[in-house]
Amino acid sequence: MTDVVSMDKIVALCKRRGLIFPASEIYGGIANTYDYGHYGVLLKNNVVNAWWKAMIQERDDIVALDSAIIQHPRTWEASGHLAGFSDPLVQCLGKCKRRFREDHLREEAEARGEDPEKLVCPVCGGELTEPRPFNLMFETTIGPVREEGSTVYLRPETAQGIFLDFKTTLGFARKKPPFGIAQIGKSFRNEITPGNFIFRTLEFEQMEMEFFVAPDEADKWHRHWMEQRMEWYVTLGVDRDKLRLRPHGADELSHYSSATSDIEYLFPIGWSELEGIANRGDFDLRQHAEYSGQKLEYVDTATGDRYVPHVIEPAAGLGRTVLTLLCDAYDEDEIGGERRTVLRLLPRMAPVKAAVLPLVNKDGQPEKARAIYEELRSRMTAEYDAGGSIGKRYRRQDEIGTPWGITVDHQTMEDDTVTLRDRDTLEQVRVPVSELADELASRLG
Ligand code: ATP
Repeated sequence: MTDVVSMDKIVALCKRRGLIFPASEIYGGIANTYDYGHYGVLLKNNVVNAWWKAMIQERDDIVALDSAIIQHPRTWEASGHLAGFSDPLVQCLGKCKRRFREDHLREEAEARGEDPEKLVCPVCGGELTEPRPFNLMFETTIGPVREEGSTVYLRPETAQGIFLDFKTTLGFARKKPPFGIAQIGKSFRNEITPGNFIFRTLEFEQMEMEFFVAPDEADKWHRHWMEQRMEWYVTLGVDRDKLRLRPHGADELSHYSSATSDIEYLFPIGWSELEGIANRGDFDLRQHAEYSGQKLEYVDTATGDRYVPHVIEPAAGLGRTVLTLLCDAYDEDEIGGERRTVLRLLPRMAPVKAAVLPLVNKDGQPEKARAIYEELRSRMTAEYDAGGSIGKRYRRQDEIGTPWGITVDHQTMEDDTVTLRDRDTLEQVRVPVSELADELASRLG
């Protein structure tokens, strides 16, 4: 692995091969909004499947949910997301780009005997923006006539939908704490400083799980989830040395959290958050109980014990995980004097597992290659490609991370064997067509 990756190279590769590209391009694009093309979708789906597998297939204490994007507006009053609406916020234009409540900064400056009209960023000393009322949530109305409609919000996190469905889920899932509810879905944030490709966008997908536990077990489960989630990224093939767990300092903690640690990855932009693992205590269930008037607690029918569960939340970004895989797998090397870009993705994460390529476009080779491809595709994502020189076709597959190239040549027509080329070692072996699918399946694991 060479240390060659930059965000520009990732952006260029994603565009060149149609993985991820700017949205609304025919209108000149729309800021910080991206579309996923064919290979991007396949890669993203592999992440989604790996997450569901770890959350619900390999455990029996978590159930799945898919809650609505637009929830009752009271949800956001209870969660605290609406509270900041009229708060004047300023943002650091310097290094740290952090946001602050302007009224808090003024109070602090006054307390220190400094001029509250000359505020600077308390973290890095940078210049601050003009204060403005700010809320992260996108607002819209239900009802075709805007003035008569009621204001609703696009969810800024998927977590709240889980809390709203806690009671219903407890009723039908036949689970009791410790148990979790997991969901993947779109969230929307009117970020002040979006950017860095898909690292921070206005709409993005989250993979969140709320794990409900007895209050005195919260610390134990927090540790459990920090370990589990770190390991998960390693199973996706991410370099362990580029992952770290960073506990939040007291000044960083959200209003609902008693402890949070971020899993960070060493992106080309530096160490940055990939996932947050928070101990949310009983904040959310208590808030929704108060605002809805419903009892949101767990009652142990055997002992009669009742309590409001505490919540451990691993909250990951799907786009950021895709970006991590791309950055981690990106490599450049040289073959026969020619520079090659290659995505060294784990085979199980690669968008396409095998490309079947006829060496020449005649002598029955295209038909034979297509027949092999059609057989393979029921077992794994495969591609048939007959266009262009063989070298170009390999380069293309290398760039999207296809681990195996299968070439049909004149010898295939005689002895029914193909060449199987490995993306990383470039080793080529002859394999009988009859054994090919099993051979690839066993390599896939
Ligand atoms: P950040 O500090 O980067 O703004 P956050 O702490 O606000 O993130 P959480 O609310 O903990 O983020 O959301 C959980 C995960 O959702 C993040 O770790 C990240 O992977 C993803 N995420 C959050 N905001 C965005 C965004 N604007 N674009 C892409 N992914 C995001």
